[in-house]
Amino acid sequence: MSDSIKVTAMAGDGIGPEVMGATKRVLAAAGARIEWEDAEAGAAVFKKGIATGAPQETLDSIARTGLALKGPLETPVGFGEKSANVTLRKYFELYGNIRPVRELPGLRTPFSGRGIDMVIVRENVEDLYAGIEYMQTPGVAECLKIITEPGCERILRLAFALVRAEGRKSLACSTKANIMKATEGLMKRVFEQISPEYPDVTPSHLIIDNCAHQLVIAPEQFDVIVCTNMNGDIISDLAAGLVGGLGVAPSANLGDHAAMFEAVHGSAPQIAGRNLANPTAFLLSAVMLLRHIGDFKAAEIIEQAIYVTLEEGRNLTGDIAPRGTGVGTNTYTDQVIANFGRNSDRPSRSYAPLKLPEWPRKTWHYEPKTREFVGVDLFIESDLSPGALGDSLLGIAANSAFHLSSIANRGAQVWPVSAAETYVVDHFVCRFVVDNPSVDENAAITDLITRVSPAHRWMHVEKLQRFDGKDGFAKSAGEG
Ligand code: NAP
Repeated sequence: MSDSIKVTAMAGDGIGPEVMGATKRVLAAAGARIEWEDAEAGAAVFKKGIATGAPQETLDSIARTGLALKGPLETPVGFGEKSANVTLRKYFELYGNIRPVRELPGLRTPFSGRGIDMVIVRENVEDLYAGIEYMQTPGVAECLKIITEPGCERILRLAFALVRAEGRKSLACSTKANIMKATEGLMKRVFEQISPEYPDVTPSHLIIDNCAHQLVIAPEQFDVIVCTNMNGDIISDLAAGLVGGLGVAPSANLGDHAAMFEAVHGSAPQIAGRNLANPTAFLLSAVMLLRHIGDFKAAEIIEQAIYVTLEEGRNLTGDIAPRGTGVGTNTYTDQVIANFGRNSDRPSRSYAPLKLPEWPRKTWHYEPKTREFVGVDLFIESDLSPGALGDSLLGIAANSAFHLSSIANRGAQVWPVSAAETYVVDHFVCRFVVDNPSVDENAAITDLITRVSPAHRWMHVEKLQRFDGKDGFAKSAGEG
């Protein structure tokens, strides 16, 4: 197989080996020139005591091939191990999760006939999924939502490139920028900044809750939607539900140096090893892989054969077959192969290679023209009332570089004035504003903490800064 392309194959857990077997058979029959490098990941690896779920040989294989087809991997719940899926995404910086959502022929859903044909592009490595979580007090948990400018720019440019590669027209960026002005707002701002560079693409922005609503009310209006990680996670599952569910939903995870393709569904342990699994989602993921490597011919043959098979409704697996007519994974796979060369009523889209800019391998840094020190937020654990805590901190800060400006509890101001009904817990964010901005900030902060420590338990200090004249911090609800 001299002109073949090497792809790492991870069969994974549960139904993974069955859908992988079916898919390799279909790709071989379609003449796809792929040489598989089989590799391990998932439950078996965890059992060997490898906490990441992906051994070094597997990581080396993907680093070598730059391409992976991955079966579902079980994430052990509740005993410490990380998710092997997250390990792979992060290790290879697979920042773009692509989820096509297309009405499939023959699959009846409440949305059939609406012409749903969209792609959800989800940022895949930042946001709340960075896994930076703390118990700040025994009963108050914190999860940091990390959104970066280059992280936004590369996922947005990927989304614009995808619109072009698939001959689409519009890109909707959906955020929660109305509430999270710094994080979600950054995605919106970068979107507005770079949109003019793509005059052939119609840009729009909508708030994510409205996006969820619109996806149910009029899903056919969407072409490509791009989101931060968590929003994308939720709406991509919602969108998959519109066209037949997770069992038929494919996906790709793209990075600069590797791409990994997988079905959206999990390992379905209840039906594993029983020749019951539907390989459609996995096959369609392999079709995405073929397009990614430029084998548009094999991709087209397989996609059309799947459509014909679904359209005709014969020899379908039990999850999608008319009641009582379900067949096994192998028979369905044979039927798809038997339908090679036939075309469905549903033409494939025309695809061109996806061209992505390669991002420099160096630490991204932006130096603002001005950087001002405004103060600090000191996170304090206390069972005092807001008034008593305020009195105490006013005294402590007297004659320091700061004055106490406000105290917030779960984001609502509780001192100097509070809404009557604010429920107060033992976690206070106490805002100290510096009186002279050109003070030695490190010495001033150290002095403040030294003063506060004997009286109060503190767990976190956040610097308040202003970059290029703009506040780099949010106000709490009720703060003037
Ligand atoms: P799941 O494996 O997707 O299964 C949920 C149910 O969906 C199955 O019980 C089955 O329904 C049906 N189903 C899913 N895929 C199917 C297929 N190809 N053919 C036919 N039916 C299919 O979700 P889960 O039960 O929540 O998760 C199970 C394990 O998978 C967990 O360990 C989870 O961590 C892991 N997981 C991995 C990934 C990944 O690797 N990307 C993604 C999600 C979940 P019936 O029982 O009604 O037949």
